[in-house]
Amino acid sequence: MRRAFTGHGASRGSALGHARVRLPFLFEVSEQHIAEADIATELARLHAAIQDVRAELHAARERLHGALAHEVGEFLDLHALLLDDPELLQGLDALIRDSRYSADYALRLQRDRLAAVFAAMDDDYFRSRSEDVDQVIGRLHAALHRGEPHAGGVAGEILVTDTVAPAELVQLQSQGVLAIVTTGGSMLSHAAILARSLHIPLVVGAGEVLQHVNDGDVLVVDGARGRVVVSPDATDLREYRTRRRDEQRERRQLHRLRREPTRTLDGVDIRLYANAESRADVAEAHALGAAGLGLYRTEYLFLRGAVAPDEDTQFRAYRDAVLGMTGRTVTIRTLDLGADKADRGGLTLPHEPNPALGCRGVRLSLARADIFAVQMRALLRASGYGPLRILVPMVATREEMLEVAALLHRTRKALRAEGHHVADEVPLGAMIEVPAAALALPALADTVDFVSIGTNDLVQYLLAADRNNDALEALQSPLHPAVLRVLREVIRTCRACGLPVAVCGEMAGDPLFVPLLLALGLEEFSLHPTTLLEVRQAIRACDLGALRRRAGALMRARDRAAIEHWMQRAASTP
Ligand code: PEP
Ligand code: MG
Repeated sequence: MRRAFTGHGASRGSALGHARVRLPFLFEVSEQHIAEADIATELARLHAAIQDVRAELHAARERLHGALAHEVGEFLDLHALLLDDPELLQGLDALIRDSRYSADYALRLQRDRLAAVFAAMDDDYFRSRSEDVDQVIGRLHAALHRGEPHAGGVAGEILVTDTVAPAELVQLQSQGVLAIVTTGGSMLSHAAILARSLHIPLVVGAGEVLQHVNDGDVLVVDGARGRVVVSPDATDLREYRTRRRDEQRERRQLHRLRREPTRTLDGVDIRLYANAESRADVAEAHALGAAGLGLYRTEYLFLRGAVAPDEDTQFRAYRDAVLGMTGRTVTIRTLDLGADKADRGGLTLPHEPNPALGCRGVRLSLARADIFAVQMRALLRASGYGPLRILVPMVATREEMLEVAALLHRTRKALRAEGHHVADEVPLGAMIEVPAAALALPALADTVDFVSIGTNDLVQYLLAADRNNDALEALQSPLHPAVLRVLREVIRTCRACGLPVAVCGEMAGDPLFVPLLLALGLEEFSLHPTTLLEVRQAIRACDLGALRRRAGALMRARDRAAIEHWMQRAASTP
């Protein structure tokens, strides 16, 4: 019988296909024993599944690029660590060998035991990690049953479930999931933002859908309007086909925007720079008509191997980014290791009591003058090949910028004395992500040539909410009056001082935030190429004058709901 459900459209796109229902993690496996003679086979089956999952996690990690590598990679790394945990592995072997349980039942027992251990922890962060245990066990369970009918992947199906984790989305996409419907979740959650980058249609908050949809039911999903229809009738199917045609037309139009200017309805040009970490990102940014690179994260060069890359290796990477952008400005950020971006070479301090507030970013670079000097040499050598700017992360004080500027001048002199070509102009910029730097920007202004606002960290420090703690998701949003106030002030100060200012946090890559950022006075965005055309399209649909006239109302919004209400109105009336 036809039934329709309404949730929130979190990622556009339509799908027609069979439902694959995944109930909230119950892992209902009843007690199963195996014969003595089957122990070796069962152990081998389990170990093959573990190997498969290890390879799966590794492959998923390799496929990640750009912002995804940063955001999702840490989940995958954590899952790989859990998978190699001797507690988990030996426990499973013992249950199969000594108690003669099936691998499935052993998994269930281990899962329940670990879930109880996590649940008993005082720390919210560790308690929330039990979800990761569920996901690792879930992957193992799927690997044990791969090849059986209707097990494993979700190729060509629509996943219906309670929630979906960001780390899972990449894998679901590579398996070929058509769309996802969840009963929980929010439009501004990490998973929703990621689904939009991955172009997976997603409906969140579809309340009762799990009670009424069964495996194999035919569904139509409308990810824009947040609608799900079970057992669609002829009218639904007609509507679906029309929508698909419209979406395809839209995609073609989006593609055409590659060569169009990023200009508002009232004729103001906005600059869209790209965030990049790899050659592929640089090529994509160039092809999509990015104004340049606004944030090239160099720490990924340092995360790959066990030792810091030498001067020539770094020089080649920076030079290639400059060459790849054929004369457009390339902004390369100095090393931002520390906190969640711990390296393998031991540059970061081990066991920091509070890594997010520890020796990271420019603090680490200044503490490790040997490493920083090599990076500065490589950067300045690359400046001989095209316009290059240097961006300094995690700046908190004027002294830090002065120290970096002094190093830049010394290094330029030394390189020229050695016969290297170094550009005369290498603008030096500061990331504004520490609230102190944002508030004291007028005192910093004469030490920088440009500014880039890192909203990912700025939000975490303003709201005192660790950006890696899932339990604080509601607080990890830029939709807070304090964040808007700081953004507006930083942008105003930069304009008053004649400093170019961009936002390069994830916020800049989400078309939903475009009217809000424009209203706050922003004219430069730096974002991952995956959403560049969508952001360009959103900008082209905005009337900048009208948005700026509404800025007062935005600044008066007292909470997230009021800000969201402003955003909705801005989106419906350009
Ligand atoms: C930010 O903090 O917004 C930012 C762009 O830097 P990262 O995400 O690399 O910390
Ligand atoms: Mg940052």
